[in-house]
Amino acid sequence: MNSRISIFSIKLCTALFALVIDTYGQINESKSQTKQETVLHVSVVSHFDRPWAMGLDDLNAFRTLTQNHPMMRWTHLYNPVAYTQLTPHYKKIESFVKECRDNHGAEIGVHLHMYESLLKKAGIKFRNAPSMNAQSVNASHDNTGYSVPMTIYSRKEIDKILNFTLNTFKKRKLGRPRSFCAGFYATSIELQKAIAANGYYVSAAAFPPGNEFGARYAPSWHELAGWNKTVTVRSRPYKVSEKSILPIGTAPYIKAKDGKPIIELPQTCKIDWMVSSENMKTIFKEHLKFCKQNQMSAVCLAIHENNAAQYLEKYDDVLNFIDEQILSNAKNGILVRYSTLSSIRKSFFENEINQLKGQK
Ligand SMILES: [Zn+2]
Repeated sequence: MNSRISIFSIKLCTALFALVIDTYGQINESKSQTKQETVLHVSVVSHFDRPWAMGLDDLNAFRTLTQNHPMMRWTHLYNPVAYTQLTPHYKKIESFVKECRDNHGAEIGVHLHMYESLLKKAGIKFRNAPSMNAQSVNASHDNTGYSVPMTIYSRKEIDKILNFTLNTFKKRKLGRPRSFCAGFYATSIELQKAIAANGYYVSAAAFPPGNEFGARYAPSWHELAGWNKTVTVRSRPYKVSEKSILPIGTAPYIKAKDGKPIIELPQTCKIDWMVSSENMKTIFKEHLKFCKQNQMSAVCLAIHENNAAQYLEKYDDVLNFIDEQILSNAKNGILVRYSTLSSIRKSFFENEINQLKGQK
């Protein structure tokens, strides 16, 4: 009995030790090196779509989620459009994302929609078609640019947009962004190559087009997004091929500026209005199965900034569930943890090295 208890205690200690948080608010993985563990990462991503429509109630909702779930690590996919058109609460919003980074281990990445004001500031001619939110691509348009895919712009234009974004981040002291997602999850090989060349490490664009769980996007999205059935709610992080944006892509891979491939983080739990809290919990459990089979995985919860108040209850409920899962699985030596997108990439490569060692 005693030896049983002590084995259990060692397991619990190892698991809890792995959750030690270092001075930068990042979960310190190096202290659990005695035993190689696979981890199920839970990322929580905010999409800044219309920062001017973010009310103080929405900002409070984000604050509530941060306070209620201290283990949670945001990746705010922030949008420089907050500085190219009138955004009443931009200072408060900016302070919030910086506070999350400085005090709660968050990452600040980038989310871009092809708005006229943004393109004008980047020195690009605005286009109002096609739209990813229409019954068909033909004759579709969006005069705001919100649903126009970034992928229709040329590489030269994309570089200009990304350069404007980097300069804006620098000016506003938002740091060097490493994670990227374009509006409506649009991407292409060209765009993936462009983000890699512009210093990004992680793409958060892969989106399940099916309706196994949650709602689907409009028909034109399916034609323009570039995703197909090879992306599902069970997709795991993968290296982005030079030949295909899909999980089935093979080597050679698109290299980031640090010499390693860029990693795609599939949007397993879609986004706020599309999914119920039960959907998100079920998808989490599907990924927990990978972890139990000793395979690293990651789920992604995503929420828009401008309707955070509306969905506060739903996300608070799901995060309560995740908090419980972290503790209950730790007792069984299964590591579930909240991670930023950049730390998932780091873990992905560490896991790859460990798997190779294991094969020898
Ligand atoms: Zn968006």
